[in-house]
Amino acid sequence: MIAEVAILAKAKHIDRLFDYAVPDSLALVEGQAVEVPFHTRKAIGYVIRLKEVAAEPERFELKLVERALDSVETASLSEEMLGLVMFLRERYLASWGASIQTVLPPVTRAKVRREYELIGSGEGLPPEVALLFTRRKTVAKKVLQERFGLTDSQLHKAVASGLLAVRDRVTTRRRRQPGAKVEVADDARVQAAGLELTGEQQAALALVLAALRERRTRSIVIHGVTGSGKTEVYIRAIHEVIAMGRQALMLVPEISLTAQMTDRFRRRFGERVAVLHSRLGEREKFVEWQRILHGEADVVIGARSAVFAPLPRLGIAILDEEHESSYKQDKEPPYLAREVAAWRADRRGAVLVLGSATPSLESMYRAQVGRYELLRLSRRVADRPLAGVQIVNMRDEFRSGCHSLFSRPLKAALTGVLARGEQAILFLNRRGYSTFLQCRDCGSVVKCPHCDITLTVHKKAATSTLRCHFCDHSEALPSLCPSCGSAALRQFGTGTQRVEHDLLLEFPGVRVIRMDVDTTRQKGAHERLLEEFGRHEADVLLGTQMIAKGLDFEKVSLVGVIAADTSLFLPDFRAAERTFQLLVQVAGRAGRHQIPGAMIVQTFSPEHYAVSLAARQDYGAFYEQELALRKSMGYPPFTEITQFVIANPDDTEARDEALALHAELKRHLGTVAGVRLMAPSPATIGRLRGRYRYQILVVYRSFKAVQEGLAASYRARLSQIKADTSITVDVNAHGLD
Ligand code: ADP
Ligand code: ZN
Ligand code: ZN
Repeated sequence: MIAEVAILAKAKHIDRLFDYAVPDSLALVEGQAVEVPFHTRKAIGYVIRLKEVAAEPERFELKLVERALDSVETASLSEEMLGLVMFLRERYLASWGASIQTVLPPVTRAKVRREYELIGSGEGLPPEVALLFTRRKTVAKKVLQERFGLTDSQLHKAVASGLLAVRDRVTTRRRRQPGAKVEVADDARVQAAGLELTGEQQAALALVLAALRERRTRSIVIHGVTGSGKTEVYIRAIHEVIAMGRQALMLVPEISLTAQMTDRFRRRFGERVAVLHSRLGEREKFVEWQRILHGEADVVIGARSAVFAPLPRLGIAILDEEHESSYKQDKEPPYLAREVAAWRADRRGAVLVLGSATPSLESMYRAQVGRYELLRLSRRVADRPLAGVQIVNMRDEFRSGCHSLFSRPLKAALTGVLARGEQAILFLNRRGYSTFLQCRDCGSVVKCPHCDITLTVHKKAATSTLRCHFCDHSEALPSLCPSCGSAALRQFGTGTQRVEHDLLLEFPGVRVIRMDVDTTRQKGAHERLLEEFGRHEADVLLGTQMIAKGLDFEKVSLVGVIAADTSLFLPDFRAAERTFQLLVQVAGRAGRHQIPGAMIVQTFSPEHYAVSLAARQDYGAFYEQELALRKSMGYPPFTEITQFVIANPDDTEARDEALALHAELKRHLGTVAGVRLMAPSPATIGRLRGRYRYQILVVYRSFKAVQEGLAASYRARLSQIKADTSITVDVNAHGLD
């Protein structure tokens, strides 16, 4: 028997399968984790296929599979996981290594302990080291380095000359008991059961239940305004799924996976709930994953990567806020959780539910052409009104002499909120103090020395620094223009720090909580700040998009958007869609309870349809207008765009490789109908972390028609590129950069 093995390695150029002979003593199955000799070391690999005949039987003798690995840490791939690996490779052109790492349980990515094994007599090694090896089979690298002072390069030489062999061991950990039991409050259960669904909720639930009973995969879009009771529908459907002996997957954007959200599910399903998100420590993640694996949880709530949770009896997969861009992974493999969930639902005859107040154009278009079913929840529960929205034209404010960050209407509304002892949320999608520094004499803008990005001004106490939001670079604020030496440097653009600063000036004594990347770096900070705001320890919650979703605070009666244009003019065909979604989301934060809500949107582009239609909360009109525009431009959902980015510290090398990849793509796709292959061009961020970047876009109607050509071109170039060059691919690219 021959095993085709994928080696877990980072190096992209060895992205292929290797043949190994299987000793008779080993009974291997496809998906099995194995240890195999690889070059001068032992490596961990996975059996992808078993076959009778090697690819090139005569050329050389095959090495043997050393042993089968089987522990919690080197879990083998189940049949479904193996299927997912194939899916990630085909759909996203991912490497074997990245695909396997993505579907494996969290802990397999944990510690590897490097050990060395003696080959031969030990001659050529320091005598005391050789002596140690006569007493032990393997010796840890740490011991060799710390006790005997061997350096990395000495060890490397010993391996290269065949004195020692490398053996990587994954440290074993014992399983821990799952966390404390959660009490299911009886009254919560009764209350939940007693809640009478609205007519719209009933209709939605009925359709989902009918689909469930059919045991045939159906995809349902639930378009429901914020507060229309979508989550309540999910919960009822999940109850039914559990009663049927099946399992439920509930995906939520990372940011909205708050304690509020998980508590609500824990109250209803008790300890049958497992929660997975990236703020969990490795150990906690491991424990949750093990509970799922052992069938102790039937409801998994999690962020994007939970879409790989082992649920063999999957009955329903729900994506809440399905339009969220965080459902797309931005590193390899660039998967879209919606597509992975659909793949899994399809295999299990499960129902796929996509819920949102602002469904993505893709999903809504699919519903329109009949590939998805569509349900509407058009009214808020108890007919609570949506927030009344007022648009403030900041050009007019400016002309009439108001130069403050806060327009007169926003100031008046904030004053009222503070006087009545209510709370407000202020939203600005930019962090830092000022967003750039420009010279008024020569016009130059201060940029990062490593990236094609302007530097952001940050303040800490009395000192200001310039920071790059893409790399680690930071420098002191210059007093003279680096280009011309003039002293006329001026700060432009407003970030959350500046808003906080001005807020305190204009409303003395106001209590502000600022939430952005800078204030939530610490573990638990995110939750802590929200809890403080929930306890009314602050009057204003000020933040970036991390406060736009899912929050539900009783006393919030005002939402203010400081600048609605920040995301409007980005070089991204989805800019209008994202702006619209964000504004509608933010509006949903106000008036969810007894106090009616108001929203004030400050903008320099009040006439832009994304702004004006968001203010009217008119999704239908926005959808029609945006769809027509996309159609005329040949953009998604009428096409799909795949983007390659080629990078190298040397501009010429990067460009040459872009040309080579382009030639390869042309060879494979040049004659395929309905494909537009764009010439290489500098990426939007032409230099990032010291690397020059070029992009190639491929626009097509059917992925099937281009899959082979894309994969062949990309993999052919990957196996030939120089050490310093990288090519990344983003299939179905979302934000084109
Ligand atoms: P969404 O997920 O659409 O934002 P939720 O399901 O969170 O809406 O519902 C909003 C609020 O209304 C929640 O506090 C929820 O408990 C409550 N709610 C949901 N459905 C009903 C109902 N049929 N009757 C009364 N209250 C409801
Ligand atoms: Zn200058
Ligand atoms: Zn930088």
